[in-house]
Amino acid sequence: MDNPPSGLSRRGFVGAVGAGGLAVGASLMSHPGRAAAASVIDVSTVTTPISNVQTLPNAYYLTNVRFETGFVEEKKPWLDTPVIAHTKTELKTLRIANGAVADVLEAKSAVPPDAAVYDAQGQLMLPTFRDMHIHLDKSFYGGPWEATLPTQHGRADRVAQEQELLPRLLPVAEERTAAMIRLMHSQGTTVCRSHCNVDPVSKLGNLEHLKASLDRFKDSLDSKIIIFPQHGLLASDSAGLMREALRSGGVSYVGGVDPTSFDHAMEKSVDTTVQLAIDFNVGIDIHVHEPRGTAIPAFHRIMDHMEKNKQLQGNVTFSHAYAFAELSKDELKDMAARMKALDVTLASAVPLGKGAMPLRELHEAGVKVICGTDSVMDWWNSFGNGDILQKAQEIARLQYSSTEYDISRTLGYATGFVTPLDNQGGQAWPKAGDAASFNLLPASCSAEAVARLPLRNAVFHKGRLVHGAVPKAV
Ligand SMILES: [Zn+2]
Repeated sequence: MDNPPSGLSRRGFVGAVGAGGLAVGASLMSHPGRAAAASVIDVSTVTTPISNVQTLPNAYYLTNVRFETGFVEEKKPWLDTPVIAHTKTELKTLRIANGAVADVLEAKSAVPPDAAVYDAQGQLMLPTFRDMHIHLDKSFYGGPWEATLPTQHGRADRVAQEQELLPRLLPVAEERTAAMIRLMHSQGTTVCRSHCNVDPVSKLGNLEHLKASLDRFKDSLDSKIIIFPQHGLLASDSAGLMREALRSGGVSYVGGVDPTSFDHAMEKSVDTTVQLAIDFNVGIDIHVHEPRGTAIPAFHRIMDHMEKNKQLQGNVTFSHAYAFAELSKDELKDMAARMKALDVTLASAVPLGKGAMPLRELHEAGVKVICGTDSVMDWWNSFGNGDILQKAQEIARLQYSSTEYDISRTLGYATGFVTPLDNQGGQAWPKAGDAASFNLLPASCSAEAVARLPLRNAVFHKGRLVHGAVPKAV
């Protein structure tokens, strides 16, 4: 694992695990109760999770793992038909080897006497979480708290702020990225897609730092990079820098931002973005925050290109797409049908309030919906906490009923729709051969986990523990 950057201390673990953490975590803390009473807690930097976690062997057994095995229907005297009231679970033993779930065994199965055995203590096993829209290259997180500043000229002020901030943050960029990755790990996320600024101020500096950071965490985080012309592809004359960034390798998507309101030339902006993707054989993931009048024509222009360039099909993401919230039911249906036909993904950071997105409608129409936390405490947004399970909860609260079944289904927004139970209640995950990337949480079922957001007590990526702890079986 990585070493904590200087300045980080074990107190971070208190913030990450909290009072309800496992007993094994408590032994790592330096008497938090007494320390708090004796001195003032240093608030000059953001509390970040610590990085040193248990190293597990390549092959081991995990006992007392809570698996979901089906829904429980009950007949109620006041209801005409039986309803799903609970989720059935069973304790199992897992054999993990070479990063995968090698076997799923009954709880009482004999374990070889010389095997390494750890105890999940009856905690629920959920698939690893995926943060599919995050900006890991820039943040206040890991440094002192700063809320966003008021603006006079909208996003132009944010870009002006970036011109001043980016050079200042470049020397600490890798440290900040590491802090954010540890935060993601502490929230149960081990798969992500990160945007990365390419702009005339930082040039390829952020990209170089992000690549170095992601390489450092390559054994604990599956990641893909989107290069992002934050100051406008045309408006900041960044197409040349974008080409340079693509030539440097390790980039999976060409990003973009508001072809009309940033670049004031929708067609040229979209066409340039598409040309970059085709020339370098990568995908597209474009931020579109614009209202319907300009956003919808931009989406259709991208999809027109996709009709002609089949290699883009299945490799384009619309990020945010707030304009979808303005569409009528029929307009949304038509948009979803075209997106599904071309296999376009929608990425959302789940806006609340009047901008709430029709994510359920898009998902049920067959559009791939992915979620991200977007900003983790930066100058664009003060509220990111890296918790994708919370995004699933917000979707549940905005768009679903609070029944056992409905809440359990919303877990999929956090996991890429890998869920322990399928929609019919069949046991779908994990199966032998699946990657051993999962969370152990103190919850009785998926619905409870989404509703209550319990601590992620042990987070595994391909068999490796990347956050928290799991005690040795006695
Ligand atoms: Zn973004």
